[in-house]
Amino acid sequence: MDETTLTARLPQPVAARVQSLKWTDGRVTAILDGSGLGAAERDALETAVKDVLGSAPDVAEVRVAIMADKPVRSGPVIVAVGSGKGGVGKSTLTANLAVALARSGRRVGLVDADVYGPSQPTLLDTEGQRPQAENDKLIPIDSRFGVKMLSMGHLVEPGKALAWRGPMASGAFGQLVDAHWGDTEVLLLDLPPGTGDVQITMLQKHKPAGAVIVSTPQDLALIDAQRAAELFGKGGVPIIGLVENMSGYVCPHCGEASDPFGRGGVEDAAAEAGLPFLGRIPLSLVVREASDAGTPPAAGDGEGADAFHAIAAKLGQWLDQRAGPGSA
Ligand code: ADP
Repeated sequence: MDETTLTARLPQPVAARVQSLKWTDGRVTAILDGSGLGAAERDALETAVKDVLGSAPDVAEVRVAIMADKPVRSGPVIVAVGSGKGGVGKSTLTANLAVALARSGRRVGLVDADVYGPSQPTLLDTEGQRPQAENDKLIPIDSRFGVKMLSMGHLVEPGKALAWRGPMASGAFGQLVDAHWGDTEVLLLDLPPGTGDVQITMLQKHKPAGAVIVSTPQDLALIDAQRAAELFGKGGVPIIGLVENMSGYVCPHCGEASDPFGRGGVEDAAAEAGLPFLGRIPLSLVVREASDAGTPPAAGDGEGADAFHAIAAKLGQWLDQRAGPGSA
């Protein structure tokens, strides 16, 4: 008995659901696509296949497997932003990348997992807001920059998170990631600085699709950034690229350029490690003041905006390549 003849016996709507059909020594094994069907329809499908094929010549037994629904969407693509040490501008970069991606038309979410100093509510001007919950899951807060967000800073009083131990921190982190993100396309994670247990647990539990590492150009920060790269590498998280922050300073009074922390170190380190370099953000008083005031530079077009937009464009390219041709 051959498989085509058997399939031809099935009524068209049933045949259309056949993913594979095998006949071996009187036994038929049929695998069917059950997407969109309820339990009763699945039963009916199984019965139809068994009845029709069971009465075919040379068939002694019919086995049917109906595959579960194919997931339509598997939730947002998670991109982690990490640094080897604190104070290098990881949170500033994450907030501005989120705002820039949203401005370019993407549906963006941000999770502030920086237990030691959740600064996203300040950066995105949602300080003091509390997220609602529905069915035991948090509803992200809509910032006025088109970015949905959840921060440890929205859940605890400022300063309290500092005392948290690892398991508590990663438990709360899970709630932030596993929230009602709806049709959010990309979720940026502002990780705590460093490469300790908290970061490892977070990466293992909610495996990001990729990671961006930010560093200042000094040697010491770079060594830590390399450690962060190793941490992601070990966790099987691909590194999207490195960003150099606080790179070069142009005096607002005389226009003279200087390099308080050096310049180019991150690009060299990326080249050495064979990792992409995504760009540099200048050290700028405007960036610091705007950030403190809850108006991320990337939301405007002034000084500092271009650098963030250029890096966000590269991240956007990475997201598109990852999604592949034909995917929305
Ligand atoms: P991290 O998240 O790595 O600890 P933050 O993003 O909180 O670092 O930045 C630390 C401080 O540096 C903040 O006051 C921030 O405004 C400032 N800062 C970050 N990037 C820049 C920059 N490119 N120019 C000027 N100040 C910056």
